[in-house]
This record gives sequence, structure tokens and C-alpha cells, in this order.
Amino acid sequence: MSQENEHVQCLIIGSGPAGYTAAIYAARADLKPIMYTGMQAGGQLTQTTDVENFPGYPQGIMGPEMMEDFRKQAERFGTDIRFGYISSVDFSSTPHKIVVDEIKTITADTVIIATGATAKWLGLPSEQQYNGFGVSACAVCDGFFFKGQDVAIVGAGDTAAEEATYLAKLCKTVHLLVRRDEFRASKTMVSRVLATPNIIVHYNTETLEILGNGKNVTAVKVLNNKTNVESDIEVEGFFVAIGHKPNTDIFKGQLDMDETGYLLTKPGSTLTNVEGVFACGDVQDMYYRQAVTAAGSGCMSALDAERYLAAKEHPIEA
Ligand code: NDP
Repeated sequence: MSQENEHVQCLIIGSGPAGYTAAIYAARADLKPIMYTGMQAGGQLTQTTDVENFPGYPQGIMGPEMMEDFRKQAERFGTDIRFGYISSVDFSSTPHKIVVDEIKTITADTVIIATGATAKWLGLPSEQQYNGFGVSACAVCDGFFFKGQDVAIVGAGDTAAEEATYLAKLCKTVHLLVRRDEFRASKTMVSRVLATPNIIVHYNTETLEILGNGKNVTAVKVLNNKTNVESDIEVEGFFVAIGHKPNTDIFKGQLDMDETGYLLTKPGSTLTNVEGVFACGDVQDMYYRQAVTAAGSGCMSALDAERYLAAKEHPIEA
């Protein structure tokens, strides 16, 4: 296989709001960043429809269009954006080594990781068919579209409990589908759910199919796995809250992460345990997971990278 080598000051991995914001700041600071987009250029937002909660878009904007705007802004300042995926990294020495598409090795003084997280789905064809047309993996993003309507949400962890409570403030009825006879969520969260009158908890309930009229969701077909009885619950919206998987497989053994694979950063910064490697966006944030918080931490990572390079170039004598 051919082996080309290239050296860069700043390599950005990932092209969601965190990666693009890091690119805008790094490019304007003249770090001449190169970005590898990953296989899903634009990240999770390219799979959504309307985004109404990102400041600066008073009329809202479609997710894919917003990511196009991010890309154009990053390119305007000279970011070299390349389609490709990072197949492995070696952070054991500086400069850091990054292998692209299994063939090309790049060395980098700083690496900004913005590889995001992937929402877990149930794996039903109907779930994909109605994704963006009544099916969503983010209540905070899409709950508003179901104001005054009936919705269902599947999951039993803290996210499902929190999102069910959030939806209950907007929607008429929230059907919470729990596959076992108990929650995984913390006691406080569960108490909050049980104290909310318009949340109906369906225990021992599995989702069989999301039903629709070809355009929108109309109901969800469920199975009670204790009684073996199937039934349809009429809903306009269906939310999946069964967890996320951070995209960190290639960093295993190289960077500190928690037990679920989220990268650990020094509090109040984007610094990882390896010098010159920074992490921003959902890959290091299991709590907020918003485009605007990802963008904010993307900005932080570029500033952290810039300061790191400046300190290396002009070390302060002790
Ligand atoms: P979790 O992994 O904690 O929970 C996932 C839930 O989804 C489980 O209850 C699981 O059921 C259920 N589930 C998985 N697959 C299916 C399926 N195919 N069908 C039906 N149900 C399914 O993920 P969360 O996103 O809830 O939380 C992730 C982490 O973030 C946790 O550590 C959590 O504590 C934390 N968090 C904290 C918050 C806070 O403190 N404010 C808010 C949100 C998250 P089962 O229980 O049967 O396995």
C-alpha cells in the first residue's frame, strides 16, 4: 500500500457543530487546520429536519442546511476540509500520528477530536422510515413540534426519564415504554416521572412497530411481554431514548475515557490526558448534547490548541 506523509499544526477529526466551530477559530488563528469529516459529513444534524433552538436562526433552519452554513464558514477562513475517516491514531509521542483511510499517515502538533456520539436506535425499519417525520432521538430538539399532542418515548434510563418529564410540559400525554418491570434511571428521576400526571408508564412493554400514514406517525404497536398481548397506542410523535454511543473506538488505550467510552477532559477545558490532544462536543459530553453546547466547546478546543502551540513556541522560563 502507498504511504504518503504530511505534517499539520492542527488536525480536526469530525464535522459536526463542534468540529466546524473549532475549524473556524483555528483557521482564523492561522493554525491552517485540516479537517477530516468522517463518513457522515456534517454529523448528527444532517439527519434531522428543523432546528429551531440554535441562536441566530430566528425562523429556524433545516439541520443539513445549517451544517452547510457551518462548512462554508469554516472554508471561508481556509480550513482544508477532506472527506475521509481516521482509521487509527498513535498519541504515544509527538508529533501525533494519525492514519487516514488506512493508507495515509499525517503527523500533527495538535489534534482536536470532535467525532460525536451516535444515538442508539431500536433497529425497526419503520423507525428509519419516519425519522424526522414523527420519530426523533432528541426530545429537547423536537418536542416543541408535538405541542398539545400525544407522544410515546422508549427507554428507562435517566435520559428517558428526563426527556419524558420535558415532553410532559409540552404534550398532552406522554406514554413511556419501559421494557422491563423497573427503571434503570435514578430514584429521583423516577419519582419525578411518577409524580407527573400526564406521563403514563407502560412496564414490560416492547415496541414492535411505528405505524404511520406514509407521511407521519399515527401510532405505535407494542407488546406486553408478560401477558403477550399486542396493542396500538395512538401517538403523533415517537421518541427513542435508549442511550448514545460515543464514537471513540479508535482512541481506546490512547486516551482516558469513562466506562461508557466518553472521553474525559480536564474540567473547564477541552484538554485530554495527552498533551496536544483536545476533545469537544458530544464525544466528551453525555449530558447536554446540544448543537450550541457542542459549538461552544469546539471554540474552546481551538483556543486551547492555539494556547498550547503558543506556549510551546515561547515557553515561559520558571
Ligand atoms: P442508559 O444506558 O443509562 O439507559 C438506556 C435505557 O434504554 C435502559 O433503561 C435500557 O433498558 C433501555 N433500552 C436499551 N435498549 C432498549 C431497547 N431495544 N428497547 C427498549 N429499551 C431499551 O442511557 P441513558 O441515555 O439514559 O443515560 C446514559 C448515561 O447518562 C447514564 O449514566 C445516565 O445516568 C446519564 N444521564 C444523567 C442525567 C442526569 O443526571 N441529569 C441525564 C441523562 C443521562 P434496560 O434498563 O432494560 O436495560
